Amino acid sequence: MEIKAAVVRQKKGPFILEDVILNEPAEDQILVRLVATGLCHTDLVCRDQYYPVPLPMVFGHEGAGVVEKVGPAVKKVQPGDHVVLTFYTCGRCEACFSGDPTSCANSFVPNFMGRSVSGECTIHGHDGSEVGASFFGQSSFATYALAYERNTVRVTKDVPLELLGPLGCGIQTGAGSVLNALNPSAGSSIAIFGAGAVGLSAVMGAVLAGCTTIIVVDVKENRLKLASELGATHVINATNSDPVERIKEICAGGAPYVLETSGLPSVLEQAILSSAIGGEIGIVGAPPMGATVPVDINFLLFNRKLRGIVEGQSVSDIFIPRLVELYRQGKFPFDKLIKFYSFDQINQAAEDSEKGVTLKPVIRISSK
Ligand SMILES: [Zn+2]
Ligand SMILES: [Zn+2]
Repeated sequence: MEIKAAVVRQKKGPFILEDVILNEPAEDQILVRLVATGLCHTDLVCRDQYYPVPLPMVFGHEGAGVVEKVGPAVKKVQPGDHVVLTFYTCGRCEACFSGDPTSCANSFVPNFMGRSVSGECTIHGHDGSEVGASFFGQSSFATYALAYERNTVRVTKDVPLELLGPLGCGIQTGAGSVLNALNPSAGSSIAIFGAGAVGLSAVMGAVLAGCTTIIVVDVKENRLKLASELGATHVINATNSDPVERIKEICAGGAPYVLETSGLPSVLEQAILSSAIGGEIGIVGAPPMGATVPVDINFLLFNRKLRGIVEGQSVSDIFIPRLVELYRQGKFPFDKLIKFYSFDQINQAAEDSEKGVTLKPVIRISSK
């Protein structure tokens, strides 16, 4: 079928809106008409080739839309359902069977390599040339996308669908890193480095967890202000004070839970040093491949736990509907992070995101 998609053709190149052809849904595929798709840092990291994904490619992995058609093997959703698209996992490895799909052993190829789960190219130009698709099992910077039962989550129709795409990655990552992965107990303290969309979603997660000391570190006053509005009890501007010293003062020795969302190795170093004896440090931010950080082994030796967290260690079919309900009840106001753009403003959205002007751009997509 004829669709409009934002195609990236070269490293660090622009998103170009093109008329291309999308395959009809195969047996296991779900055709989704996109309503709005969030723009995530990973789209830009892959566009810029810090992760070596093939180009040309249709990015977009925070899609929200309406099911249009399903392949004969699909039972989970039906046409007319409202859905959020998220990351793809295989469903048949040990991690998936154990209820930890974010540790799926077989997720790299179907999420990043531009082909469907069965290895097909699903988007072609009018000249017959192949365009990479199925990014995160979706490629949702397009009027229509093909997804799978494994990465399609049905959501209630009583909240605006155009808000929900970012729950598929960035917001789920931040909130889940706290609620699923670190799982701080009520009344405990947490320090969150980086107040972008992921960090601020972590702040909302910490409020929901009942943390009574929520420290946020960033270098931009507007973000720190929003962090306070969302429930941070202390904010630290790292340009004019030393976050490690401040956190040690506030938490009497260090924070029992620390989350690093900036992706900067120097900030991860500070995050580690801010942790208490026995504390847990979660790494969420992604630096370029090969980045390392110096760690004092004897510092870690005192029962500190340093760990990575992807996609908030979420089981999306459970976690995303919960976040939607928390939003509906006013307990998870993630809409405060969102700014909408039209499809033809997608490059502006990317620029605003990189400058930190917009925390979470969401691209409205109309197929009309
Ligand atoms: Zn798996
Ligand atoms: Zn993402």
